[in-house]
Amino acid sequence: MAAANQEPVLILGGGLMGLALAHQLARRGEAVLVLSRRRSEAAGFVAAGMLAPHAEGLSGDLLALGQASLTRIPAWVAQIETDSGLRCGLRPCGIVVPFSSAAARDAYPTAAWGEALDRRGLEQEVPGIGPSWQAGLLFAQDGQIDNRRQLMRALERACVEWGVSFQEGTQVLGLERNGAGALQAVHLRNAEGDAQRLPAQRAVLACGAWSAQLLPELPVVPVKGQMLSLQGPRQALGRVIFGPGTYLVPREDGLLVVGATSEAEAGFSEGLTPAGQRQLQQGIANLLPEAAQWPPMERWWGFRPCTPDEGPLLGAGPVPGLWLATGHHRNGVLLAAITAELVAAQLLGEGLEPAEAQLLAAFRWDRFQPSTRHT
Ligand SMILES: Cc1cc2nc3c(=O)[nH]c(=O)nc-3n(C[C@H](O)[C@H](O)[C@H](O)COP(=O)(O)OP(=O)(O)OC[C@H]3O[C@@H](n4cnc5c(N)ncnc54)[C@H](O)[C@@H]3O)c2cc1C
Repeated sequence: MAAANQEPVLILGGGLMGLALAHQLARRGEAVLVLSRRRSEAAGFVAAGMLAPHAEGLSGDLLALGQASLTRIPAWVAQIETDSGLRCGLRPCGIVVPFSSAAARDAYPTAAWGEALDRRGLEQEVPGIGPSWQAGLLFAQDGQIDNRRQLMRALERACVEWGVSFQEGTQVLGLERNGAGALQAVHLRNAEGDAQRLPAQRAVLACGAWSAQLLPELPVVPVKGQMLSLQGPRQALGRVIFGPGTYLVPREDGLLVVGATSEAEAGFSEGLTPAGQRQLQQGIANLLPEAAQWPPMERWWGFRPCTPDEGPLLGAGPVPGLWLATGHHRNGVLLAAITAELVAAQLLGEGLEPAEAQLLAAFRWDRFQPSTRHT
């Protein structure tokens, strides 16, 4: 538990990264205060929860980061479940990526990590798969977690158990720097509409798609995604199906989470669109025709925090005292475990293994600037 009178580490944004960081910092004895504008708008509640470094076809440093996080997820989830007393809905169920030809399958960036399937193998893994798919890759090591209904709540509960304080409905308006440019306070407006100044020498920026509103140097833009869910029979689908443009994620109770559009041009425009919903319906009919008859449950949308290379911005940033945990685009659920571990360790000045320090360095915020690339 945190020492009394210790100035808390401020977490700016109470979405998935904010909660994951708050939890790890509190576990290490830090006082932590989460400033959260709107819990429900967090992409952490929107995501499909796939843990899919291989099915997503990642490469280079991002694949390495995803694989490192995937390895850590079972222990991370066990910790959250023990701390919260709640289940997170982790399912190491494997993910199947279908292709229209064996050639397309063999050209997939992560093909070497998966098991090659022909049409017959595809039908065995995904009974009822649409007729246009002739080949597939099974990534048995990938999986899913029920972020929307379980993980986010369990993380919040785990934070509370470790003494984390929350100010919900609080918008951080700006950062105040001292003469040397380091963080010395944040300015905010609380849920009652009052302006406040909170002194802070240590904070984590975890504002997701909205991060550049607080720190315009960060190249983070929103990429909107629309989702829907259907209620299927309990064990109709054993594996996640990751098709081009649409994926189907079967939860334990038969709920089928269907995603997702990828709309960079939509900015922060709220709401569902007919074109987006049509894309998802067509994707369902292509991937698993029988599911087109299953009753619809919910429809929702959210904003992925995207960077120029679609990798996150991690660790120290342009403002001393303000660490970054943002820009995770379409893999934030996967990357939450490693993000929380590495950023918390760097913030607290803990030693990192060389491989971990290398990963953190690969996701520096200024890697897009020519003078800092490859440093
Ligand atoms: C449709 C969709 C599907 C996805 N599917 C997957 C998937 O299957 N697998 C996967 O790994 N990832 C997936 N993702 C990505 C994942 O959800 C995100 O990368 C991750 O949630 C980002 O976490 P975050 O904490 O950075 O942002 P968020 O979870 O969005 O949280 C940001 C929070 O910051 C708050 N905030 C913003 N500005 C301020 C401010 N000024 N003051 C105070 N608070 C503020 C917001 O209110 C929000 O609650 C998906 C995302 C979307 C949108």
